[in-house]
Amino acid sequence: TLALSGQKVLVFGLAKSGVAALRLLRQQGADVTALDARSDDALGAVGHEVKALGATLVSGPTPPGLLASQDLVVVSPGVPLALPEIQAARAAGVAVWGEVELAGRLLSSVPLFGITGTNGKSTTTALTGTLFSTGGKRTFVGGNLGRPFSEAAMAPEDWDALVVELSSYQLEGIRALRPRGAAILNLTPDHIDRYPSHAAYGEAKARIFQSQQAGDFAVVNADDADVLGLARAAKAPVYGFSLTGTPVADAPKLAGLAVAEPGGFRLAFLGEHYTLTNRALRGAHNAQNAMAAALLARLGGVASGAVQAGLDGYPGLPHRLESVRMLDGVEWVNDSKATNVDSVLVALRAFAGGVWLIAGGKGKGAPYAPMVDAGRGKVNGVLTIGDDADTLAQAYAGAAQVHACGTLDRAVAKARELTRPGDTVLLSPACASFDQFKNFEDRGESFKRLVEAL
Ligand code: ADP
Repeated sequence: TLALSGQKVLVFGLAKSGVAALRLLRQQGADVTALDARSDDALGAVGHEVKALGATLVSGPTPPGLLASQDLVVVSPGVPLALPEIQAARAAGVAVWGEVELAGRLLSSVPLFGITGTNGKSTTTALTGTLFSTGGKRTFVGGNLGRPFSEAAMAPEDWDALVVELSSYQLEGIRALRPRGAAILNLTPDHIDRYPSHAAYGEAKARIFQSQQAGDFAVVNADDADVLGLARAAKAPVYGFSLTGTPVADAPKLAGLAVAEPGGFRLAFLGEHYTLTNRALRGAHNAQNAMAAALLARLGGVASGAVQAGLDGYPGLPHRLESVRMLDGVEWVNDSKATNVDSVLVALRAFAGGVWLIAGGKGKGAPYAPMVDAGRGKVNGVLTIGDDADTLAQAYAGAAQVHACGTLDRAVAKARELTRPGDTVLLSPACASFDQFKNFEDRGESFKRLVEAL
């Protein structure tokens, strides 16, 4: 067990997980200093909470020598480990852990299932949580999604299983974190702002395997050569999931493979077949997420019947291909989380045709041509909104009807006029929302309100 009582611990970064770590450290009796680059004013209520918890608040620039005088520094995922004061503290022999590492040390008696990847983390984490809960296990679901992992560590005895979404930033801060099951879903170019190269980004993700032992297991996307490459470093047996059933060339030896088939997937190494009829899990990408979740659950001790029941009962996450309403034979789908072109490609693959696409917003500069191509024969018309409407309209010229609507309320009203039974109205904007909404959640909630009001 980890003895923190009386230890001098500094929490760097006071966003949600930093504050959760602070609470945990105070519960453990540590002498806590909380540091955040924001001013007292900008911190607002957080500053008061820090003081109420009996910690010392240091706001603004980091005072020289503050970190190096601690026993332990706990870093929030938003704070880069490359900061000079963090490097200096490490050089001075101070332990530097991410918030996830801290929580994991206090939770070492509970099996941990960690999920990372560029896309699908939240869906796979929520679904895996559902599978474990359906299997009767008291399951904590959180991490990068929802509740900070430190909240689980406040009461380890409450949990039979921990299902945790891990971002690459969180993985940078782990040292000895040892997932019983660790999954990497995919690896596509992302976060080029924080990582010098694609390889460096991959290395951060691969840390999820680094402390695993022979009795643990890894789960990887067997259709993704980069992910399979990362699996070579795993010391635990590696299981794969595949849409094709033919792993890419030079694949490392797999202990077992989940393979998609029409209407579901099979875990041949267990002689099991699962059906996938839940609308919240439509699309090939969700078949991948479901296979990863099923592998984590089956290998993590959930019975096959509970896995099937969990796949059927999974409620879905809001704003991700979320079915909002059936009205006069038309399905209205909220995919507001699709803030880039890749996500729209993934969404379009989930539909056979008859799609009316509501798209636009604050564009990210990537060409729209791939989504125009992916929608040929499927997308009847595009209803544009927001700043990038003209660029979208140009991209779709000749490929589909374009209706310049400007705002979401007008797009919904127009779609109501245009649709016929069997059609789908899909809000999958390919753009950020900041030109017209607070965030993608706000955009999705607005859409749902408008659709409910029809
Ligand atoms: P994350 O937490 O990694 O952002 P989400 O589950 O919230 O992942 O999904 C975000 C978006 O990523 C979805 O709206 C969908 O467009 C896309 N997506 C989800 N799962 C996958 C997958 N397995 N492969 C590729 N893209 C995916």
